Amino acid sequence: MPVSVKIASELLLFLFISFGFATGFTLPSTTLKRQFATTMSTTLDMSESISKSEHILFDMPVSNNGARCRIILFKKRISNEQVEIVSPMTLGGLKSSEYLALSPNGLMPCLSIQKEHESGMKHISESDTIARYLLSEFSDTGPSFLPDNPRSNQIARWHDVYLTTIQGCLYKPSSRFPLGDYADRKSALNAFKKNLETIEGFMADGDGIYLCGSEVSLADATLFPTLVFANYMLPKFGYTPALPMKLSKYFNDVRAQDAVFAKVHDEIMDVLVNSWEETNHRWDSIWLAGLKDTDPATIFDKIIAGEIPASVVKEDDHILAFKDINPMAPAHILVIPKDRNGLTRINRATPEHTNILGRLLVAAGEIAKDETLGFGDGARIVINDGPDGGQEVMHLHLHVLGGKKLNGQLG
Ligand code: AMP
Repeated sequence: MPVSVKIASELLLFLFISFGFATGFTLPSTTLKRQFATTMSTTLDMSESISKSEHILFDMPVSNNGARCRIILFKKRISNEQVEIVSPMTLGGLKSSEYLALSPNGLMPCLSIQKEHESGMKHISESDTIARYLLSEFSDTGPSFLPDNPRSNQIARWHDVYLTTIQGCLYKPSSRFPLGDYADRKSALNAFKKNLETIEGFMADGDGIYLCGSEVSLADATLFPTLVFANYMLPKFGYTPALPMKLSKYFNDVRAQDAVFAKVHDEIMDVLVNSWEETNHRWDSIWLAGLKDTDPATIFDKIIAGEIPASVVKEDDHILAFKDINPMAPAHILVIPKDRNGLTRINRATPEHTNILGRLLVAAGEIAKDETLGFGDGARIVINDGPDGGQEVMHLHLHVLGGKKLNGQLG
């Protein structure tokens, strides 16, 4: 019997999993909880309760990392008796204690091994490890996925280390920033795009629809589902075309000529379009996609562009500091972000702005102790916010005031 994706496909469940992921909230599955409360560390009880299969792959179509495992299962025609795909909702959701007992980070996919395995492993909760386990466990059926091919391994590893670690920039709400090593969404998006180009450079030249040529490999299983995300989401942030040329051709060819890749593409797109887009309106509230800085430019943009002069005292890639044209103290410096990025005023700040806000404060602190600028022992850092705060220029700026003992009045 071919593997069937046994998903809880109702929208409700999907919505639940999205919110459950963010909040840690789980379905009140009393029966299931009672059933699994004391048995999660053993495989046999779970096998009897959920599936009699040798393996259970906990996965849903929206996970690109899960999709790599599904591609392997589908291409190798692994039967349901060998590996059954089950939604994590069966255990109460990704953050349920039942699921966390199997997959400590609460992510999909997770493979539960329901038979004795020489490694002694009961659960594998990392997609590349699951994929390699499946390739070795089912090495005698279907394509090999070129387990020792350095080109395939290079693409798969590059994907896992540099691409998938920042893919959240394509769909995560602001509340879940900052993101990995990247200061903000824009720099993560640029890095994501650049890594796609790097991966493109690893592709084989010549004939064959797959990344390594005419034979499907782990690189295809790994990268293709992420390309489904990238191809659909990057244009929302103004990146068109979404994929670099060779990768774009690959993406179209492999979908057109390989039914398994077409199927996995359609499974992912079904959730992205129907649930994330049309029901959740997910991108409406995502910065740089549905939300953009459309406020009018200010005089500070002209200063940044060098179109009007300013007495610049400090500058780097992110901030600019210059003397206030109408000083309110012997020393009066303004510190601004070079990229306003929605920060017309401080009450527009979101977690996506954490890095630039930190940079502005660090710069202000450095300026405040710079005697060459007229500062003595201490200064006052002020941010005026909106009309009531007396803000006139709608581009966030910190006033650094000093050079004398300031009076105690703040309001
Ligand atoms: P705020 O009232 O907090 O919006 O502060 C705006 C500040 O920008 C005021 O202190 C102005 O004196 C200052 N300012 C406006 N135009 C310039 C300019 N061209 N160069 C330097 N400072 C300026």
